[in-house]
Amino acid sequence: MNKSDSFITIEREIIQMKKDQSKIIREQAPRSASREHSVPLYLTSSFIFDNAEQGRAIFAEEESGMVYSRYANPNTAEFINKVCIMEDAEAGLAFSSGMAAVFASFAGFIGQGDHIVSARALFGSTHQLLTQLFPRWGVTHTYVDAVDNEAWERAIQPNTKIVFLESPSNPGLELADLAFLGALKEKHPHVIFAIDNCFATPYLQKPLQYGFDLSIHSATKYMDGQGRVLGGVIVGKQDLIDQLMFFIRHTGPAMSPFNAWVLSKSLDTLSLRMERHCSNALALAETLERHPEITDVKYPFLPSHPQYDLAIKQMKAGGGIVTFEVKGGATRAFRFLDALRMILYTSNLGDARSIATHPGSTTHSKLSEEERLSLGIKPGSVRLSVGIEDKDDIIGDIVQALEVSSDKNG
Ligand SMILES: *Cc1c(COP(=O)(O)O)cnc(C)c1O
Repeated sequence: MNKSDSFITIEREIIQMKKDQSKIIREQAPRSASREHSVPLYLTSSFIFDNAEQGRAIFAEEESGMVYSRYANPNTAEFINKVCIMEDAEAGLAFSSGMAAVFASFAGFIGQGDHIVSARALFGSTHQLLTQLFPRWGVTHTYVDAVDNEAWERAIQPNTKIVFLESPSNPGLELADLAFLGALKEKHPHVIFAIDNCFATPYLQKPLQYGFDLSIHSATKYMDGQGRVLGGVIVGKQDLIDQLMFFIRHTGPAMSPFNAWVLSKSLDTLSLRMERHCSNALALAETLERHPEITDVKYPFLPSHPQYDLAIKQMKAGGGIVTFEVKGGATRAFRFLDALRMILYTSNLGDARSIATHPGSTTHSKLSEEERLSLGIKPGSVRLSVGIEDKDDIIGDIVQALEVSSDKNG
């Protein structure tokens, strides 16, 4: 879907809107004959042609228009247009899940003999794609430490097709230097630079402005923001999105109109929610840093973060994830998690409700102890997705759970 197919139909609104936030709120599928104010849900698998000639012209791509919801649908198009505005992107595509988007960002481009350079700290399923699935297709990869600029440069080979990373990483919250990578892209114009921008969201970080080709999101996380639906999105350069359109049309990972309808509404409040996620997370990180039962607090906007200077340069705020180690290893971490009263243990993040997880025994349990340590995951590491409840209640729950789970009481 092309951003120029933007749906805004009311001239008055176009003229008045100078700021992205206003454009996001006002972006809407064309009004139907019913003159509805809020966008309807377009539960339709196909779209009718006015006549046989129009059918021919649309299939011949002489005329634009929707055909079938595997290709495009008014709800998914509205969602995509909003993400394009947020990321300052030329075009985008919506997917049934974040992993469908991540998979397409590779599978839409790679072929036998190609090579991928990727940051080592990756979402678990992305790691499985690179290490289990793509080798079967004759595609190799090199992992690098995202913080090591020279390592990125050294890893690129003549057959490198894609450079891929997440920043901040999960759960170690290490940052890749986006300006450096944008400059590296200029030296290697034929390599596709793709970033999974899910943790930062377009509100905190806009990688395309540094020269990245594609920015990918699991919309399941902050974009939904309330833990309801799965979704994924890729935005970026028009020619690459066109290539991916071919992939999506013929492989079928399209987002459902219902999920797009939910997610599009959620984007209207993304900036407000992110501000609260970030201010709560910073307050929590500062409190935990002073707590005697906690070590190794990681949060990009804490001055103690090894890449604090880079964080304040490339992110608007520190994000909603705080990672820390409770003293006493895995046993204590389990006791701590079980002692939380308000905060729930579930494997999602980016929800309005705070969520705690133990990466070592869940999301990263398939890795070896050594691999985990290289990603900063210790037996006592806990990842907190800080919600938008009142910060005093979040901090209060954590402090009481530390108290209850301490050796003195255990
Ligand atoms: C959750 C997540 C994904 C996968 O998204 P799904 O919507 O669960 O398929 C990919 N990357 C990151 C960084 C994630 O957090």
